[in-house]
Amino acid sequence: MTVTGASTVSREKFNKQQQADLRQLSPFVHKTAQKAPVASGGCAGRYSAKEFAQFMQYFDPPILDKLVLKKANITMVEMISIEPHESATPLNCLNNVREYVAINGGQIQLGWIFSIIGNLALKLTAHAVVKKDDETLLCVTPNEYRNNRLRFSPDNSIEHLIKNNHLPLKFVPLIENSKLDEYLDIERDIDKLRLDNSGVVSAIEMQYMNSKASVLYHSILELAKEHTHKNDYCFCGSNKKRKKCCR
Ligand SMILES: [Zn+2]
Repeated sequence: MTVTGASTVSREKFNKQQQADLRQLSPFVHKTAQKAPVASGGCAGRYSAKEFAQFMQYFDPPILDKLVLKKANITMVEMISIEPHESATPLNCLNNVREYVAINGGQIQLGWIFSIIGNLALKLTAHAVVKKDDETLLCVTPNEYRNNRLRFSPDNSIEHLIKNNHLPLKFVPLIENSKLDEYLDIERDIDKLRLDNSGVVSAIEMQYMNSKASVLYHSILELAKEHTHKNDYCFCGSNKKRKKCCR
């Protein structure tokens, strides 16, 4: 998929000064710790990459209703236990499961786990867990921001999407909006780069992608505000109701 509207920043015009700002914080990073964001001071200006990342990182949703899952064609989700295997490492689920199965038996089960950005889009991350001989599922991969339970939707077709031993992502918009579509296309492009390059996106490519995304920060953040009611969980992922969090 190609990015259209957001590409007002050409590769040639890509500003060196901007690179330094963007290097520090990328919004395309999982939230690793719960922050208590300071309410944003108005909507008049543009947001920096740092500000945007503070409010807009993927988070584990407190609730995930059926309507949201339906948009991603997910019909079955189960809560499974996380018990990190002693030799397991983060972001390495496929190898972790292989090691576990080699020692303890069972099989590899592929499926999706879920995170949300800004109450605007659902990210499906392909994930491997252990299917024990008694058919129960167990996640053996340590994860900083999920506690001991994980929402998981088994899907054997993921096997065909594995590239260079890396698992894919999917991005599903929860509202119809062209700016959001542009933003998610950038996310998809980054994931394609990652899969094509054995899990690594070069710093220069990442900066280029961030610079394209930066054109959309303002719209996306405003959209998140617009689509989060005061009694909803806040778009920033704080796990608080919006009325007690961001303005
Ligand atoms: Zn908030």
